[in-house]
Amino acid sequence: MNKKADVVIVGTGVAGLFSALNLPDDKEIIMITKADAQSSDSFLAQGGICVLRDEQDYDSYFEDTMRAGHYENRKESVDIMIRSSGKIIEDLVGYGVEFEKDGEAFAYTREGAHSRPRILFHADVTGKEITSKLLARVREKNNVTIYEYTTMTDILEENGKCAGITVKTKSGEESSIYADYTILASGGIGGLYQHSTNFPHLTGDALEVAKKHHIRLEHLDYVQIHPTTLYSEKPGRRFLISESVRGEGALLYNKNMERFVDELLPRDVVTRAIREQMEKDGTNFVWLSMAPIEKETILSHFPNIYEHCLEEGYDVTKECIPVVPAQHYFMGGIWVDKNSHTSMPQLFAVGETSCNGVHGANRLASNSLLESLVFAKRAANLIKEQWCLEKEQAV
Ligand SMILES: Cc1cc2nc3c(=O)[nH]c(=O)nc-3n(C[C@H](O)[C@H](O)[C@H](O)COP(=O)(O)OP(=O)(O)OC[C@H]3O[C@@H](n4cnc5c(N)ncnc54)[C@H](O)[C@@H]3O)c2cc1C
Repeated sequence: MNKKADVVIVGTGVAGLFSALNLPDDKEIIMITKADAQSSDSFLAQGGICVLRDEQDYDSYFEDTMRAGHYENRKESVDIMIRSSGKIIEDLVGYGVEFEKDGEAFAYTREGAHSRPRILFHADVTGKEITSKLLARVREKNNVTIYEYTTMTDILEENGKCAGITVKTKSGEESSIYADYTILASGGIGGLYQHSTNFPHLTGDALEVAKKHHIRLEHLDYVQIHPTTLYSEKPGRRFLISESVRGEGALLYNKNMERFVDELLPRDVVTRAIREQMEKDGTNFVWLSMAPIEKETILSHFPNIYEHCLEEGYDVTKECIPVVPAQHYFMGGIWVDKNSHTSMPQLFAVGETSCNGVHGANRLASNSLLESLVFAKRAANLIKEQWCLEKEQAV
């Protein structure tokens, strides 16, 4: 059965959920997701979320983001993200998100390519903490309906504008959802790869649709490979060993148990060094040692990693684990302006499926949750403004 809403949002990760939370309560919003509402990469984020701690850190945070992005970042987007970060964290706390504290103040951790600790975290399940709280708040709203196991198959284009989407349910039923505004928040492309940390159902569907409708795309070749995922011979999603493990002191070793790289260099540089080392050694992995990290820190900061490795047969408090690079993040995507508007009227794109230029050629660790939230809110704000404008013009 066809439906009509004020806004339709494709995806229930942080980008989709935060868009919904920032839209007015008197507007009808439909959200769809290809799987169940919890199965998004947002739930998997381990390391944390960056924030501008104080004005003195602005230049250094800006420079770290630009350097990691090989200076191909859109400077305006980076500035917007950094300047908005404090308010976004306030919003999250308001929605019930809890971050690790050091007494009354926030505790900060550090990851590769960050010149100082500026990452807020919740053990090693920050994404789950943020996304589950946002999902709970969205579920409390009477004006938002979530349809699970419902896949966007296309957008509805009318006179060069986006008028909604077409969808297919699990049972194969096809229908249309008409909407004044459409927000694509359908995540990354990891499902297209054999080895990826992403959910397999994230296959860049919005990009395919955008291409079909001649919507502007950008940097489709900018794909981030994460240097350290747990090596496994089993098929399926690769388990991430968060960068903050190296940020806290973990070291990489070759087959002779010798260090071969500065572990805190940007992801692409560490990945290249690992690949070269594997080739030299004739191995399928290198070793990661968490021995420099105190056992109490491992158990309190990385309980998820500790448990998962134990299930796979490794006690990280006592032994090294084999790690290998895998596809992790997509910096390119549907081109959007600073308010997440695509090149098609009434169509927005937010989160990993969009490219607002924040990450340039390579993403700085823990910038993506923040970027998704900042630019999702901006999309919602612009939609609100456009409604106000229409109302004024109608009077
Ligand atoms: C293992 C892992 C660890 C990470 N750690 C961090 C971290 O510590 N800090 C950080 O900042 N970032 C981290 N990231 C990156 C970050 O989690 C993601 O970039 C971010 O969550 C993307 O959010 P999103 O809302 O754009 O997409 P997602 O959260 O992936 O959500 C995509 C949504 O779109 C839906 N969807 C997809 N296609 C369709 C379709 N055709 N029809 C309907 N629905 C569709 C999906 O079902 C899903 O609901 C990590 C990523 C991974 C994989």
